[in-house]
Amino acid sequence: MRPGHSQFPFSRRPEDVYSRDGLRLPTVEVLLAAPRGFCAGVRRAIQAVRDALELHGAPIYVRHAIVHNDAVVSELEREGAIFVENLADVPRGSVVIFSAHGVSPAIAREAQRHGLRAYDAVCPLVAKVHREVERYHRGGRHVVMVGHAGHVEVAGTLGHLPDGTASVVSSREDVSALPFAADEPLAFVIQTTFSTGEAADIVAALNERFSDLAAPRTSDICYATTNRQLALRTIAPAVEAVIVAGASFSSNANRLAELARETCRSVQLIDSADSLQWNALPILGGRIGLTAAASTPESTVDEILAALSRRYRVSVREVASVVETQQFAPLPIGPA
Ligand code: SF4
Repeated sequence: MRPGHSQFPFSRRPEDVYSRDGLRLPTVEVLLAAPRGFCAGVRRAIQAVRDALELHGAPIYVRHAIVHNDAVVSELEREGAIFVENLADVPRGSVVIFSAHGVSPAIAREAQRHGLRAYDAVCPLVAKVHREVERYHRGGRHVVMVGHAGHVEVAGTLGHLPDGTASVVSSREDVSALPFAADEPLAFVIQTTFSTGEAADIVAALNERFSDLAAPRTSDICYATTNRQLALRTIAPAVEAVIVAGASFSSNANRLAELARETCRSVQLIDSADSLQWNALPILGGRIGLTAAASTPESTVDEILAALSRRYRVSVREVASVVETQQFAPLPIGPA
């Protein structure tokens, strides 16, 4: 079974019904968004930790949560990974992996100074944004990053630029507050997990205000974010409640929850089935939408479906908006 693929013990054909005690349970149809869950960047980063554990042996240190999901982190901890925020906490000579969110070059230099063997599991699509900001900076443009200030991906990207040569905006108001003349040479990039709708609005505001604004050749919002948001947009208007499986500290999970709230009054973002808020689900039955953020394993979706099946007669209909084929080459893990 491929990583991230469903291990739920039932097929998901629409006519399937799961219940413990039959007809007394209210009936819900779960519209399961597709695509959902692990993206190619997350799979690659998790595999890099496992490959490093196999080659170098435990412990392997990982700077920051390899992906923003506690279940994934706990599983890797059981396999021998140790997660740290600070390289000073990594013993000299150890192996360290940088998370999929990317790091600034200063972190790579720090690892070298500490005598660490470092692997960078940055997602290739985040690395693409790193190259963009460097190119814009070389071209003499101030970089405006559309993103959430303080997010680890944004911090890593800005770390590729000297201080004072980039700004972060996350709203039209932030664009209005930028201290530049209308003809200042600027360029924008976007956090890979930003909301596609909000990004379009902010980029429109930038174009309205600035006349010399360079743009990325292709969208910085990655395929996985775009596809998961599109899939949820397809089902959210048709359900009474939406469940987003994901961590509260995951950017792409939060964007999914925000997007669902645009069309559905009852939305919950939960990291496990234990956190289900039953009073936010339809009492008499109906339709529930279910999706999972790019860092959420399919096992969490399965657990939520299993929990629902204990309270409802559940039929599951997968609603596929896009077929994803994106894969990334594994991160080379070699002998020291
Ligand atoms: S969400 Fe997008 S940018 Fe982030 S790891 Fe996945 S593919 Fe890469």
